[in-house]
Amino acid sequence: MASSEHQTSALLFTDIDGTLVAHDTYDPGPAAESVAKLQRAGIPVVLCSAKTRAEQEAIRVRLDLDDPYIVENGAGVIFPVDFPGSLAGEGEQELVTFGLTYREVREGLELAAAEAGLEVKGFGDLSVEEVSSLTGLTLAGAAKARNREFTETFVIENPTPEREVLLSHHLEERGMGILHGARYWTALGRHDKGQAVRFVISRYEGSGSVTSYAVGDSVTDLGMLEAVDIPMLVQQADGSWADLDLKGLVRLKGIGPEGWSRAAHVLLKR
Ligand SMILES: [Mg+2]
Repeated sequence: MASSEHQTSALLFTDIDGTLVAHDTYDPGPAAESVAKLQRAGIPVVLCSAKTRAEQEAIRVRLDLDDPYIVENGAGVIFPVDFPGSLAGEGEQELVTFGLTYREVREGLELAAAEAGLEVKGFGDLSVEEVSSLTGLTLAGAAKARNREFTETFVIENPTPEREVLLSHHLEERGMGILHGARYWTALGRHDKGQAVRFVISRYEGSGSVTSYAVGDSVTDLGMLEAVDIPMLVQQADGSWADLDLKGLVRLKGIGPEGWSRAAHVLLKR
């Protein structure tokens, strides 16, 4: 497309759960066709979520995506084979990490939990069957979620608010962080989605100026949304938008993938 070569290029970062795919069905619905349109227009779609590499690879295959992707809450960025400027060997993906190793995180969590008087159970302590019954994922899905490289997802067996504060204190002492989602906790290194997003943008800027967009559905997407030029939110399952106050935030109509298609349209008509 010679006509587009002189335009400023665009880059779309996207959350997965509740944004690109529906929360309950994991189905991209109308967003699948929108992804294809963006790819035909030469606009990269960069996955950015808490999901593992194995989980995201399944989605990349399903949507025929061949762009970089950000895994485990910004702990790692994977650049595909033959990505311009890649430092990987021939035929290999390049992995850039910002976090600790999974083993380091597991060790730090174990020590910090003991100091806080908490019993925690991480995905690494559970079998695939147990992760499946805990999360409601299929066995195949649970195996992918359990295939972790940088961060540990866990449940607390004997929670109290005081001990939870202590846990985050003792993790911080070890150079780690903690996230509390709707059902699980995650222990991780000191990194966030924003840092990884800025890194990917800098790689693309090597070949000209780029306008960056991102689309998410919840407060956990804040780091990603803050790091781009045009932040966008889709509606959550109840029709509301996440309570975020960001300059220039675009609130798209449409729940999850329906809203995602509108985000794609914003980029396609630019
Ligand atoms: Mg989400």
